[in-house]
Amino acid sequence: MAQSAEYPDLKWVPPKSWTNANRTSVQLIVIHDTEGSEGLTSAEDGAAYDQRRTDGTSAHYYHDQDSTVQCVLTADQAHTARGQGNRRGIHHELCGKANQGVAGWADVASWGTLAQAARQCARDAKKWDIPVKRLTPTQVAAGAKGFCGHDDISKAFRESTHTDPGPTFPWTAFLDMVRDELEGIMPITPADVKAIAAAVQNVEVGRSGQTLGQMIQVNTTALQALLVLAKMEAAEIPPSVQQVVDGIEAAFGTGSPEETAAALKAVLGDKAEQVGRLLAGQA
Ligand SMILES: [Zn+2]
Repeated sequence: MAQSAEYPDLKWVPPKSWTNANRTSVQLIVIHDTEGSEGLTSAEDGAAYDQRRTDGTSAHYYHDQDSTVQCVLTADQAHTARGQGNRRGIHHELCGKANQGVAGWADVASWGTLAQAARQCARDAKKWDIPVKRLTPTQVAAGAKGFCGHDDISKAFRESTHTDPGPTFPWTAFLDMVRDELEGIMPITPADVKAIAAAVQNVEVGRSGQTLGQMIQVNTTALQALLVLAKMEAAEIPPSVQQVVDGIEAAFGTGSPEETAAALKAVLGDKAEQVGRLLAGQA
């Protein structure tokens, strides 16, 4: 897969339809959801679909839990929010569904997706001098710079009836993630993650006596979750590997991947934002 000329660490999949606009300023960073799957290849699949579809639709970015794909340069226009929205915005498609509710947005897959999107929104906010605040539809229509949803574009200009990313999208947490990105709060390195993963490979978890290594092999999301928790534990207490292992064992003394995910959420509590952010560093 080709790499983006604008952000060389991103995959680049240009769509069939977009507008070569050479914008010199951008008003809005706009959040959408795809109303599709939230799997490990959902961003790649969404971008690939925009290469085939013939209805003239595209977005600047697709994000899923472990990747971001860029499709249109931010100076150009993507085709996803009609005339006003397309002219004014940089458009981010988050893989997932608007109606998944507060808990759905907080699950491991969606927090990973939010973290991927936050990372890229922060980079564009910096590049285009866009403040990290959510605008009202009135402000959007008046030309204020900031963040909004496709729903706010619909209310501001009445050119469409789209309501994504929906009423339970975690705006406060998401914008906090973007701010943290801008402040450089990203303490994990890939080397840290590898070291901790190696240390916990043979820890037994679950009623079945399954090891973390086995669980990781069958569930990539569980791997990400475990590594994130391990790193969080390491960051908050003296980074003793044994303490990390103890923390993970205490958190995942159940069994199935579903139970693991539930236990993770229970353990994380109000740290869920941090986890989502950290997940972005795990790809
Ligand atoms: Zn939309």
